[in-house]
Amino acid sequence: MLDYLIIGQGLAGSCLAHRLNKEEKSFKIIDIVSNSASFVSSGMYNPVVLKRFTPVWNAQKEINTLIEYFLEFERLLQVKLVYPSDLYRIFANEDEVKTWIKKSERNENLKPFLDSRIYESVNPYIKADFGMGKVLQCGKIFVRELLREFRKYLIANNILIDDVFDFNSLNIKVNEIEYKGIRAKKVIFCDGYALKANPYFSYLPMEGVKGETMVIHAPGLGLTDIVKSKVFIMPMEKDYYYVGATYYYREVDDEISEEGQGELVENLNKFLKKEYTIIKPFAGIRPTVVDRRPLLGRHPEKENVYILNGLGSRGVMLAPTMAGELYEHMENSVELQSEVDIKRFN
Ligand SMILES: Cc1cc2nc3c(=O)[nH]c(=O)nc-3n(C[C@H](O)[C@H](O)[C@H](O)COP(=O)(O)OP(=O)(O)OC[C@H]3O[C@@H](n4cnc5c(N)ncnc54)[C@H](O)[C@@H]3O)c2cc1C
Repeated sequence: MLDYLIIGQGLAGSCLAHRLNKEEKSFKIIDIVSNSASFVSSGMYNPVVLKRFTPVWNAQKEINTLIEYFLEFERLLQVKLVYPSDLYRIFANEDEVKTWIKKSERNENLKPFLDSRIYESVNPYIKADFGMGKVLQCGKIFVRELLREFRKYLIANNILIDDVFDFNSLNIKVNEIEYKGIRAKKVIFCDGYALKANPYFSYLPMEGVKGETMVIHAPGLGLTDIVKSKVFIMPMEKDYYYVGATYYYREVDDEISEEGQGELVENLNKFLKKEYTIIKPFAGIRPTVVDRRPLLGRHPEKENVYILNGLGSRGVMLAPTMAGELYEHMENSVELQSEVDIKRFN
């Protein structure tokens, strides 16, 4: 009998699988490649909410854990995935400059992340009339490469089953679950927005937030840092850049739309003064919860059915820490933080 059966190999399922692997637990994953939030994610991590200049919840702990996990993935898979980078926020007016200086000098929680100096534009083709502020400890993770390479590793080790999970074939017994001949002590759903159709957890208040991004090519731009105004531009390689993202709260399809791509172009053109070509658009649904906190824990009635979901717009930062917290809860009975425990919705 296996220790675990995981459903879903997005960021949540991958980070959990990595932890189980490290702890030498036995498990299998069932996943079907889809237009998942992880697959379309730009992979940016950033410890500050850049609308209001406030720290992200648990920021320092999450940054430390994400670096640890993704460097371990790099070593396991022999592929470069972690790209630390500075991020510059373009100020919209003098008031923002004043707020930035005040917060970066006086707010103890923000000091590790905000440089209090005001910078001129970091690139001749980026317009920043009121200057820019530098956010520290940011960067990007090459999520698509991670998912692809980890999938290959899991298949080579006979762990991943490339199939749609069929809920009708799941048999939940007292101390084990059984699924098409696989027996495991526990099943953990890491199924992202597909939770909406999950008979065990669809009662949880996930709302889903559609997002669109695009990759552009801007020959000669030579930008090396991430720059954020209403949208961000993030260097990849050889003058290819990610531009993102939109947030639509009422639409829950994952189709690329003229409206979404138009919004990105309009906001990018306000500060980017260099010609570019759109190479590839992306769209997906963020698994966002009404209170903006993850969903972790055990099903209220089924002893051996668990969930790791609700990573919303910050999967890169949240997935490693939340995978660790769920692991400690399941294996060592460490209590989950009440903010992430699904008991809050009982
Ligand atoms: C456009 C966009 C840009 C984003 N950019 C960023 C960013 O820059 N930084 C950041 O931190 N976050 C970003 N996010 C958010 C982030 O991607 C998500 O929080 C995160 O990827 C969620 O991961 P997950 O594993 O929970 O879900 P998902 O990525 O949705 O993974 C779920 C997996 O389960 C599989 N699955 C579901 N049901 C079944 C079934 N029945 N059978 C088999 N398999 C199944 C799916 O195919 C999928 O592989 C972005 C999201 C979007 C949409």
